This record gives sequence, C-alpha cells and structure tokens, in this order.
Amino acid sequence: MRLILICKKQYEQQSIVIVGAGPGGLVTAIECALMGARVTVIEKRTYLSRNNILHLWPITMKYLHSLGAKIFYPKFGSGGMDHIGTKQIQRVLIKLNLLLGVKIHFGHSFEELYSVDGSEILTRCSPDIPELPCTLLVGADGVSSTVAKKYDFNRSSFVGNLCIGITFNFKNNHTKDEVALREFAVSQIYHQAYFKEIEDKFNITLENLVYYQGETHYFVMTIKKNSLFARNVFKEIKPDNAELLDPQNLLIDNLLAVARDTATFCGIPTSCELLTNHLNKPDVQLFDFSTRIQSEESIKNVPIIPQLRDEESPLPTPEVLVTLVGDALIEPFWPLGTGCNRAVLSGLDAAWIVQDLASKRPVSEIQQTRQACYIKMKTALAETFMEPFKVCVNPYKRYNTRKL
Ligand SMILES: Cc1cc2nc3c(=O)[nH]c(=O)nc-3n(C[C@H](O)[C@H](O)[C@H](O)COP(=O)(O)OP(=O)(O)OC[C@H]3O[C@@H](n4cnc5c(N)ncnc54)[C@H](O)[C@@H]3O)c2cc1C
Repeated sequence: MRLILICKKQYEQQSIVIVGAGPGGLVTAIECALMGARVTVIEKRTYLSRNNILHLWPITMKYLHSLGAKIFYPKFGSGGMDHIGTKQIQRVLIKLNLLLGVKIHFGHSFEELYSVDGSEILTRCSPDIPELPCTLLVGADGVSSTVAKKYDFNRSSFVGNLCIGITFNFKNNHTKDEVALREFAVSQIYHQAYFKEIEDKFNITLENLVYYQGETHYFVMTIKKNSLFARNVFKEIKPDNAELLDPQNLLIDNLLAVARDTATFCGIPTSCELLTNHLNKPDVQLFDFSTRIQSEESIKNVPIIPQLRDEESPLPTPEVLVTLVGDALIEPFWPLGTGCNRAVLSGLDAAWIVQDLASKRPVSEIQQTRQACYIKMKTALAETFMEPFKVCVNPYKRYNTRKL
C-alpha cells in the first residue's frame, strides 16, 4: 500500500476544487491530497445509487491495490474478470479521501467561479458553500459536465449508427449454481453461433453482451432496434430516436421480459429477482450510444471578471486553470469498458497539474503537458501498459515517455 505525503508549503497553498465524486473526481482528489494540496469535492447527489459494474484494466487494478482497496473492500479482485461496482469503487475512494483530509460536500451542485474584487477566486454552489477558494478547478462531473459548458470547452459529437444499450441487474443469492456461472464479454462479430442461438430462441438480436458477477448479476448489452420492435418494447413507433427511446415511450414490462430472457439464456436462475434502484423502480436502463461527446481541449486558462469592476475601477482580472477528467472529457462506450479506466488515468494526469503549479511552471507549459497527457490517455488501451508498468501520478513514467 502506497502512502507518500509530500506536504510542501507550495502545495499547501493550492486549493483544488473538484466537481463530481465519481471515480475520476475521487482519484484526482486523492492524488492532489497526497501532494499536500487543500482539496474539496462537490457532489450534487446525496446517495451512491449506481449498481453498474465497471471493467478494470490491469493498470487500474494495480493502482487501486496500491491505494489499499482490498483493505476497504476485501472482495476486490477476487472475481473471474477484473471489475468493481460503481458504488463499491466510490465507497473505497471516499473513505481514502476522508482519511487524507479531503472535504466532500454531498448535495451541492457546482454553479460557477467568481471573484468579488479580483484578489481571490471563489466557488459558487447550490446550496452554497461559503468561502470556498479555488486555484485549480477540475470538472469530473460526467458527460453532461456543467464545468465544460460553463467554461466553453470545445466539445464535438461523434455520430454513428443507432446503437442502443441496455443495462440490468439481478439479485445475486450466491447459491452454488450462481457462483459457478462464468463471466464473459462477447461480441456478435466473433461469436456468431452464440448470438444466433439467442435470436432463434428469444427473438433478441444483440451486437455485444457482457455479464459480470459481483454483488449483483450485471448485464450490459447492445441490441438491434428491430429486435425491440419485435418484442413490443415501445408504446409508439417514432421516427425520432430520442423520442422513441424516451422512458415515457417504453412498455417497461416488455423491456423487463427482454432482460429476463437474456439472463435466463446466460444461466441466471429464475429465483434471482430483478433489482430495483434507489427510486424503487426496476433496475433496467436503456441508453442511446449513437452519439458520443468528447472534448477537444482538456484544460483552459479562464479569466474571472471581478464582480465589483466597473468602467472607473481598474481591478485585476484573476485567471484560473480549469481541467476536465473522465466522462466529462471523453464519453465512453460502456460495453468496451473504457470509462472507469480513462477516468482514473485522466484523474492522475489532472493531479500532475498540482506538481506543475507548485514548481511555478509557466501556465502555457502546464497546458501543453496536460493536453499531451490527454492525447496519450485517449488512445490508451489495457494493452498500452505493458508489465512492468509504473502506476504513478507522474505521467512521464506512467506513459513511459521522455516528452509530453
Ligand atoms: C447512470 C450511469 C450508468 C452507467 N453505467 C455504466 C455501465 O453499465 N458500464 C460502464 O462501463 N460504465 C457505465 N457508466 C459510465 C461510468 O460510470 C463512468 O465511465 C465512470 O464512472 C467514470 O466516470 P467519471 O468519474 O468521469 O464520472 P461519473 O462516474 O459519471 O461521475 C460524475 C459525478 O459528477 C456528479 N455531478 C454532475 N454534475 C455535477 C454538478 N454540477 N455539481 C456537482 N456534482 C455533479 C454526478 O452526480 C456524478 O456523481 C455509467 C454512467 C452513468 C452516469
């Protein structure tokens, strides 16, 4: 287990505000706190509700082990494939953050940065957290990032063919039969006979299917639209995909039947009930992955106009670095399982800014390094990190490069 506290004066002077307590935000917070910075996380939710299971690359496993994840969550790393529930990873990382003195404010939504007279930059939340200074803002607030929108990050959409994803969770009763089930991630291109069998048996045409066993039996799959028509999942056939997939347009019992049939095909006993979510609704979600957003920029130097400035008073305009991590930076395609891994890598990259700020590197160079890390991170896959890889906050060592 790694525990290095640097705590130099120049790190302590930094007040890092991180928006979002998903894996990306929480990893950034840990690494900034380990360097000795003052760190605050703002999270708009008041509960950890996501049952979805996240695939982990070897480098992410090694990183979480190095933080002592197994101490906080003894089952960590004991399954057939490397993964962890969203709730579980959040719990582990929140505990570590609290041990490191990070302040986490749940139930507060980030709104903007402001400065009254140009001397200090403060953070405005709803409901507000008084006197929250900010010398680096990290937007780890997911795909619909408020930070990215507020500070005009240049984001582009990748528009592909219609791609519909479904996730669902069944209760894991941990019976002998259930424990014996094998986890898998398969794609229609490579397993045509398997997919043909599901189609013939249940009239369900899939492109990808992933099954993980954790605290739940978790499935994520991409399904053909015609198959949803054939199974009467929609109340009305609408030409607009957003309207077609709108929860109001779903015949939920028919969608649940698709989930049950797929689970039965994969060996889940009928005694395992479909789980409900925090709203007491069935834990089945349908998503449109056809459009995926990604930011062109990973960092911006943002001027904050003082509130008291008018024509006559020449108040200084302070500037602050704003960076994005995780899904806010690049939206993942869940069946590929890149989301959590990229969130962790970009969290480590973002934390390196604290080191750069402390060593008083020019802002333009800090931006250049951050952007170079983003380009490396975007193209990284599990195989990019070959043993023996360095799992550390230093991007030069982690990406095994002399130049960034
Ligand atoms: C509902 C949902 C289901 C998912 N299911 C899967 C799945 O099945 N498989 C998979 O591989 N990946 C899934 N993902 C994606 C995966 O969870 C992410 O890739 C991974 O968690 C890393 O994300 P992150 O930390 O960048 O952002 P997230 O985990 O999305 O965390 C962002 C956090 O920011 C908070 N936030 C947003 N706006 C504000 C604001 N203004 N102020 C304060 N806080 C804010 C949100 O409440 C959230 O907690 C899912 C994501 C979501 C949102």
